Amino acid sequence: MSACLVKTPVLVIGGAGYIGSHAAFLLKQAGYPVVIYDNLSTGHIQAVQALELPLELGDIRDAARLGAVLDEHKIGAVMHFAALALVGESTHFPARYFDVNVGGTATLARAMCARGIAPLVFSSTCAVYGAPEHLPVTEANAKSPESPYGHSKWMAEQVLESCAAQGLRAARLRYFNAAGAHPEGLLGESHSPETHLIPLVLQAVLGQRPPLQVFGRDYPTPDGTCIRDYIHVMDLARAHLAALEHLLAGGSGGAWNLGTGQGTSVLEIIQAVERVTGQPVPRKDAPRRAGDPARIWAHPAAAQSALGWTPEWTDLDATVESAWRWAQSPKY
Ligand code: UDP
Repeated sequence: MSACLVKTPVLVIGGAGYIGSHAAFLLKQAGYPVVIYDNLSTGHIQAVQALELPLELGDIRDAARLGAVLDEHKIGAVMHFAALALVGESTHFPARYFDVNVGGTATLARAMCARGIAPLVFSSTCAVYGAPEHLPVTEANAKSPESPYGHSKWMAEQVLESCAAQGLRAARLRYFNAAGAHPEGLLGESHSPETHLIPLVLQAVLGQRPPLQVFGRDYPTPDGTCIRDYIHVMDLARAHLAALEHLLAGGSGGAWNLGTGQGTSVLEIIQAVERVTGQPVPRKDAPRRAGDPARIWAHPAAAQSALGWTPEWTDLDATVESAWRWAQSPKY
């Protein structure tokens, strides 16, 4: 894209959260006027302040507020990250998950269609596949989500696909396991409660929580622990930018996996943390966690051919190192 073209304002919904804030950083760096829309239920005002971007407080289910913000800022494209995203919690409060993740996405789609705003980059998840029958996972794998969270994201994808009939063009990006932090420590991962493996391992090393529980040592994997595909958050952010520019150039919507293509076990993560920190990880074996598939990793080739995106953070230790820098001095 030519540097002299005027870039359209982009609304980043959920831009105060982990992945959304990193995407907002890259959008701003690429010269897009960026507005963050967030209800701060799980996002961090400090992330928005670090980015020095305008914040519009609001909920995605609030059609009037959303419409007013789209109009006021003359928004031409949207990235939508706002969601409830805890698998375990979703099994206890499924209705809440469908309300926010499906209802909120439908409200957004309606507001965009009413205004003729076509390009939308949407946060989806590998949880839409459930426990995959075929590895690595391609976009054609069966969709058999095993939690209300995974169901809600799959339903939201279908809402967006249907809205193509009204002109919406949505890139549905299915993340595998987001990991790492902004390399200079500007932004990072901070969830409450924290449930994700890498921050939990690092916080155990720092003595900020009890020893890590390794959930299951008897999986049908080489070392008996679960295998995941850990994709750096800056690579996810780059994929969002690539998807946005694909749509702005008139490209059609679609669904794309975002992973490294490499599977890494829980024990391999622990070993990487020990290499990076130079300290032993306090840990103990624990029973399997309900709903965890034994093995899942991506086949990321479709995102490469359609969006020209390939992961750059392919060294696990570098990913862990960026998370370690953040864990030692988190800004929020
Ligand atoms: N895990 C673990 N102990 C923990 C948290 C996670 O052994 O305290 C394992 C979990 O069972 C899974 C992997 O780490 O196999 C990644 O879990 P995470 O919650 O980070 O991501 P998920 O794959 O569930 O989205």
